[in-house]
Amino acid sequence: MKFNELTVNSSRLWESLMEMAEIGKAPENGVSRPALSKEDGKARDLLTEWIKPFVDEMMVDEVGNMFFIKHGTNSDLPIVLSGSHLDTQLHGGRFDGVLGVLAVLEVLRTLHENQILLDHGFGLVNWSNEEEARFCPAMGSAVFSGKLSSEQVLDCRASDGSHYGTCLKQIGYAGNQLPSSLKVKAYLELHIEQGPVLENENLDIGVVTGAQGQMTMDVTLQGVAGHAGTVPMRLRADALACASEIISQCRSILLKKEDGVMTVGTMDVEPNSRSTIPSKVVFGMDIRSPHSESLEQLKNQFTEAISSISQKHHCTNNVEIRSFKPPTEFDDSCIEVIESAAKKLQYGYKRMPSGAFHDACMVNEIIPTGMIFTPCLNGISHHPSEYASQEQLFKGVNTLLHSLSELCRK
Ligand SMILES: [Zn+2]
Repeated sequence: MKFNELTVNSSRLWESLMEMAEIGKAPENGVSRPALSKEDGKARDLLTEWIKPFVDEMMVDEVGNMFFIKHGTNSDLPIVLSGSHLDTQLHGGRFDGVLGVLAVLEVLRTLHENQILLDHGFGLVNWSNEEEARFCPAMGSAVFSGKLSSEQVLDCRASDGSHYGTCLKQIGYAGNQLPSSLKVKAYLELHIEQGPVLENENLDIGVVTGAQGQMTMDVTLQGVAGHAGTVPMRLRADALACASEIISQCRSILLKKEDGVMTVGTMDVEPNSRSTIPSKVVFGMDIRSPHSESLEQLKNQFTEAISSISQKHHCTNNVEIRSFKPPTEFDDSCIEVIESAAKKLQYGYKRMPSGAFHDACMVNEIIPTGMIFTPCLNGISHHPSEYASQEQLFKGVNTLLHSLSELCRK
C-alpha cells in the first residue's frame, strides 16, 4: 500500500474511546473525570498500558504532564509532539480532550502495524488539568510553556481544599523535571470543534488558524434604592434599568461588527426585592475576538457605552478588567501541513479560528503549533450529550496521521 492511502483503524479508535469513557462514566453518556481524581489516575494507567508496546520512552514531569516518545530513525532530529488532555469537566462528555490523546495512540498503532518508521521522533503528550474544573489556574501546558511555575501549580488548591501536589502524588503521577535534551520541532492537537460551524457547513475538518483572545470584566453600577410606588420614573437611579440598557447597547455594537462575541452570564442585584428600585448591580462580561485590535476597540466602545448610559440613569459605574488573554495565531507552516493533508485526503475543510482555549494555545508560545477540528453534534461540548460520529473522527485522525507524518520527514 502506498503511504498516501494509509488510514487509521476507525473501529479500533472508536472502541478505545468508548472504553476510556467507562472511567468516570456518568448518566446519559456523560463522563466525570476531573483532573487528579481517582478516575483521572485510572485513565492515565489505562493509557500507559495501551501505549507501552508502541513507544521507546515515557516521562512524567513535575506537574503530571505525561510524555510518550517513539524514537525516529535519526536521533539528532527534534521530535514532533501531539496530544491533548484526559481530564474532563465535572459533567463532561466522551470526546473533549480524550479524542486528541487516543488519536495519537491510534496513529502509533497504525504506523507500528504498517512497519513505518519516521525520521523524526514522535511523541504523545497528555496534559495535566486542561479543564481547570477542579484546580484553577493550574494548566500543565502552562508550566511546559513557562507561563506558570511548577511551584505555583503544585501549591494550587481546589475549592474543596484539595492540594494539587498531594492529589498528584496520590494518583502516582508526580514526576521530575524534563530532560533539557528534549527538543520539540512542532506540536499538533486534534480536538472536537465545540461549536456548530463545521456541522452547519457540512465540512469534515477545521484547519485552525488560532484562537480567540478573551477579556473578562466586572461592571458595578451604583444607583439609589427607593420605593417602587413612590419615586417617579424620571427621578430614579435604577441600577438594573441602567444595566439592561448597557447590555443591549453592547449587543448592538457587536451585531454591526464582523467579528467578536460578548456574553453577560452573571448578575447580582441589590437589594433584589420585587418592590424596591435596584440600588446596585454587578455583572460579569466575557468578550472574545480573534483579532487584538478588535478586542481593544470593543473594550473602548463598551467602556464608553457604560459611562454614558450610567450618566443618563444617574448611576455611578466602575469597570474592573478581570483577565486578558491575547488572541493566538498558530504557525503558518503547521497550518499549511494540515491543510494539504486534508486536501490530499479529499476532505471538505476550511480555515477557522477556535472559539475556545486549548493546550495548543499555551504550547504555541514556545513551539510551532497547529490544530485540527472535527465537527461535533449541534456544536455541544462540556456536556454528556457531546457527540461526534465514528466517520467524523476517522477523518480527523487520518488528517492528524498525514500531518504528523509530513512533519516527521526530514
Ligand atoms: Zn478540551
